[in-house]
Amino acid sequence: MSNLSFAKALDVLQRYYGYGAFRPAQEDIIRSLLAGHDTVAIMPTGAGKSICFQVPAMLLKGITLVVSPLISLMKDQVDALTEQGIPATFINSSLTPAEARNRLTAIAAGRFRLVYAAPERLEAEYFQYILAHQEISMLTIDESHCISQWGHDFRPSYRQIAPFIASLPHKPIISAFTATATPSVREDIVHQLQLQDPAVYVSGSDRPNLYFGVIHGEDKKKYIEHYIRSHPDDAGIIYAATRKEVDALYSLLLRRKLAVGHYHAGLSDKERAQFQDDFLYDNIHVMVATNAFGMGIDKSNVRYVIHYNMPKNIESYYQEAGRAGRDGEPGECILLFAPQDTMTQKYLIDVSSENTERKAYEFGRLQKMVDYCHTPDCLRQFIIAYFGETNVPGNCGNCSSCQDDTELSDITIDAQKVFSCVYRMHEHYGTTMVAQVLRGSADQRVLRFGFDKLSTYGLFSTRSIADIKLLIQRFIATGYLALTESEYPVVRLQDSAYAVMRGEKKVLQQIHKEKERGPVHMELFDLLRTLRKELAVRDHLPPYLIFSDATLRDMCAVQPETLDEMREVKGIGDFKLKKYGQSFLDCLTEHK
Ligand code: ADP
Ligand code: ZN
Repeated sequence: MSNLSFAKALDVLQRYYGYGAFRPAQEDIIRSLLAGHDTVAIMPTGAGKSICFQVPAMLLKGITLVVSPLISLMKDQVDALTEQGIPATFINSSLTPAEARNRLTAIAAGRFRLVYAAPERLEAEYFQYILAHQEISMLTIDESHCISQWGHDFRPSYRQIAPFIASLPHKPIISAFTATATPSVREDIVHQLQLQDPAVYVSGSDRPNLYFGVIHGEDKKKYIEHYIRSHPDDAGIIYAATRKEVDALYSLLLRRKLAVGHYHAGLSDKERAQFQDDFLYDNIHVMVATNAFGMGIDKSNVRYVIHYNMPKNIESYYQEAGRAGRDGEPGECILLFAPQDTMTQKYLIDVSSENTERKAYEFGRLQKMVDYCHTPDCLRQFIIAYFGETNVPGNCGNCSSCQDDTELSDITIDAQKVFSCVYRMHEHYGTTMVAQVLRGSADQRVLRFGFDKLSTYGLFSTRSIADIKLLIQRFIATGYLALTESEYPVVRLQDSAYAVMRGEKKVLQQIHKEKERGPVHMELFDLLRTLRKELAVRDHLPPYLIFSDATLRDMCAVQPETLDEMREVKGIGDFKLKKYGQSFLDCLTEHK
């Protein structure tokens, strides 16, 4: 059976997802499910677990019921499936009773292949109606670590799943998925679901596209502001430990004229929903949040996750940090460490539980987190080993320990050039204008003010505006320069900058190498991204549901000239080709 079905699975993958091949772990899992085995799969975020149950769901006879912990997660997945032409729906408490009834009728009539439901909905009675007409051929348990008390996100309602399975007239194929599970959580999942002899697949937990970094002794606020400014087009999440810290950081960044949102349990439902939507729809690029934000956020183009405070254990850290780079493109996970974070977490553990055994367990996990922040060895290795994998790679070259580009470079000459340019422009202009003058730009304003006559005009003629701005921003972040707090901030010289200009002071700075993003035509990518945003607004969808960043990047590489060629772009199936192909093709043609 499975050979034939597997060929069909490939067909579904190409037709609905626009991908030419399964990843190796996906293939194993799908073969296992198509052969009717209960299957537990541990796959890191971004490894593509959705496809592992969605594709079999399209091939199995009845419906696939997907248990998922969060309403937002269900909605996101169902929206994504609908966008791909796959019939899916969800049943949860966000629906009115009338809506829920309508959906149940439609499900019973066989209109959907996938039905998402919250565990609370699993009273057999509720599904009796469906079951009278439709067989549940597969039960998928997403985020299945929620069933274990030893996991980082225990949800008592998950304990209703096993009795539900037992109550069904025909036992469905069970598939359970999770991103991070230590060996003991893994065993607990099998035990709690009462699975007999399941196939267990553990993909490596490594996320090679993510850079991991720990930073000690930085001015955290400055660091974050600088980071956001130097990544103006990237989406990012900044996690802080408490609501108070989230709010303080949020107001600071707003005062600095950065478009950020915030999210924590202290905000009203309406506020939270609004900020979350703004983030998903790319209206704001940065979200400052407690760990209340993120589970159920499938946004694939988050480029960085910065931890303003150290979390309470590696599981939480890896899950939160892992929200970067789900699309497989490079992402950065940076933890800003300060010793008092350890005290805060200790306090929180202390007040959270009476149970001394539990407390000891949590303190142990916290200690591992502290160790992570201090290890001189590869951070990736550290994480992978923590999750019980023995096959640990060597130095990764993509974490702050391995890269160790903490080399100080003498950039005094560059600094003098920048500072004297600011000086000659009478400290009246913003970063962009200063950068344009240094670059030797023929911009109207530059010429009108006669800045092309300055001796500093064109000193950095070989650099890009973006690079020069980055350099200026670094000087701002390190206090040589300052921005005025006004609508159009102006660059001002600080005392230390004068000392540098007089030759009394050297400027040594950590130069972090910019990571390669591949040979991408940034200009074209920006055009495509703008188009995606327009279509997203038109269709009321988050942009990443139209195409992922990875798909846009591939489109830049392939540069298709016909709809047929557009099929070669990763992530474009029939449905999306029809819906969006022509618009993107027009955009590509215009760019030529
Ligand atoms: P997870 O749920 O494991 O975090 P997703 O299911 O969201 O991961 O998939 C992550 C990304 O990888 C998505 O953008 C998805 O479209 C992409 N992806 C999944 N499977 C494949 C594949 N076989 N080929 C190419 N891209 C894939
Ligand atoms: Zn490393």
